[in-house]
Amino acid sequence: MRWERALIPTLKENPQEAEALSHQLMLRAGLARKIAAGLYAYLPLGIKVIRRVETIIRDEMEKYGAQELLMPILQPRELWEVSGRWNDQELGMLKLKNREGSEFVLAPTHEEIITGIVRGEARSYKDFPFNLYQIQTKFRDEMRPRFGMIRAREFIMKDAYSFDVGEEMARKSYADMRKAYINIFRRCGLNFRIVEADPGAMGGEKSEEFIAVAENGEDVLAACEACDYATGADAAKKCPDCGGRMAKIKGIEVGHIFNLGRKYSKALSAKFLDPNGKECLPFMGCYGIGITRTVAAIIEQNSDEKGIIWPLEVAPYSVVVLCLDREETTVAESEQLYQELGDKGIETLLDNRDERAGVKFNDADLIGIPIHLIISRKRISEQKVEMKRRRDQIKLLIPRPEATGEVIRLLKDLKERHRGTEAQRHKEHK
Ligand SMILES: [Zn+2]
Repeated sequence: MRWERALIPTLKENPQEAEALSHQLMLRAGLARKIAAGLYAYLPLGIKVIRRVETIIRDEMEKYGAQELLMPILQPRELWEVSGRWNDQELGMLKLKNREGSEFVLAPTHEEIITGIVRGEARSYKDFPFNLYQIQTKFRDEMRPRFGMIRAREFIMKDAYSFDVGEEMARKSYADMRKAYINIFRRCGLNFRIVEADPGAMGGEKSEEFIAVAENGEDVLAACEACDYATGADAAKKCPDCGGRMAKIKGIEVGHIFNLGRKYSKALSAKFLDPNGKECLPFMGCYGIGITRTVAAIIEQNSDEKGIIWPLEVAPYSVVVLCLDREETTVAESEQLYQELGDKGIETLLDNRDERAGVKFNDADLIGIPIHLIISRKRISEQKVEMKRRRDQIKLLIPRPEATGEVIRLLKDLKERHRGTEAQRHKEHK
């Protein structure tokens, strides 16, 4: 992408309205704009990051055999009457009527719809098991939307639903999703804890929350300083797993998994016939990830005073080429390097705007692109390119002909280092 033709409206100052760090940086880096309280438009850079997170999610969900589908956001009242949740207060449902007077709700969740589909389509034990997921907009009529994407009214979620014929298999499906979630949040570069939670409005037998550690989080938990153990209950003084000290930390709920048992299959009478022709109810699980909230959590954990520092796998672009002056050779050389990187399949942003060098440096830092390549009259005369790593601000001078090769090497190195850090963090916590 050539910046000259892009809409990346960066801001110098922190907008007044933004309290949380992630909210400030999302606005400043031109990722999103507020439309009304709790409603945001995701601008091109913002949706790119969201798509990156979605790619990781699809990849890990499909590794565990889940299949994607898409359900409507507008849902009829009748299905919610059957499940007994039409008047549920906890879900913050926004209800509306069409011109014929039929009533609907803007989906806060999809248990009713999915169970309704399965009731019609899976009649025999042979049709099971399966796990269906979607990536969809959800709506909750929050009384107090705040902290930008952390507590919004409209947000993007991944929700998955597993269906099994037996309890043991349902536990296995739950355990699989738990593993998938660990992989997803690790690949997103998040520091997170898993805590036992109250199933609340979803109901069911067991549920766990994935909490990304963050100062601006609304969830308070007690976490062990020596191992992975964490709990939502504040009574804990000593870790029951290892005896370590427990410390109070704040976090953002990015994922929630539920073993639902047969609550919804019973309510919606989604029955199947077992091998003896007997009617049975399938066991369900549901598994959510707040995608826009995950992006906010990534920013909360990955920034410095200059701006966002995207982990490589979710970065909107891997590389930004900064063309520092308007001289013909500088422009031509920048264009050439941009082409070379594109040919190698590296997603690159070319900053060819008619702006001062300082503006370009600041913006490249603010939007958090992992690798910066700087081209200027001076460096061209030396046959060199300056390469900067966003995270540690380390600069290197490399011979121009080796620039693309060096970028490929560094990208590989960043990927491996990310995996190494994750493995290390995992080991420390075991
Ligand atoms: Zn412990």
